[in-house]
Amino acid sequence: MNKGLLIVVSAPAGSGKDTILECAFKSCNNLNYSVSATTRAARPGEEEGVHYFFKTREEFARLIENNQLLEYTEYAGNLYGTPREYIPKMLEAGKNVVLKIEVEGAANIKKLFPDCVSVFILPPSFAELERRLRKRGTETEETIKKRVGIAKIEMSFVKNYDYVIINENLDDAVKDFIAIIEAEKLSTKHGIPVIG
Ligand code: 5GP
Repeated sequence: MNKGLLIVVSAPAGSGKDTILECAFKSCNNLNYSVSATTRAARPGEEEGVHYFFKTREEFARLIENNQLLEYTEYAGNLYGTPREYIPKMLEAGKNVVLKIEVEGAANIKKLFPDCVSVFILPPSFAELERRLRKRGTETEETIKKRVGIAKIEMSFVKNYDYVIINENLDDAVKDFIAIIEAEKLSTKHGIPVIG
């Protein structure tokens, strides 16, 4: 059986990555999220074990201590980390895994899984990014400013990614994302199929 594909997606907050991925998940079967652990408070509508595993700082420290994370980082004052066991287990079982992660974590995952496919999603402009963050209505003014500042730094990492999508229009961005996965599934770099 072919191994699954690991798709690492990074995008500044407000770039629309969650909506793009939600649509892509509806169109492709065999896409599975790796759910991260975080010390960030849950936003309205976010569920434990679906969007994140929500942890206290103490609980997160224990995950690190017990070597239960593949990587972790601090982002806008909160800790985020990728559970160690889920990804290799799913890939071995032929399942494709999508990991939504910031740039530092993505670089660490690329070192651990050189075969992974990395995708960066850009908003059409900084003004639009700020507008989308405000519209979300879940962040304080201070957090919005912090996230726009981080987004500017993050965008300098685009060149380290295999693919870049500009989210000007949702339908096109979803098509682009699915096209990347379809092409990667056919790429010889993930193995040569054996025919009878
Ligand atoms: P948010 O608070 O908006 O859900 O996430 C903030 C940032 O943390 C996003 O860029 C998100 O992709 C990233 N992130 C989420 N989970 C992880 C993780 O497990 N590791 C790393 N390094 N970043 C993560």
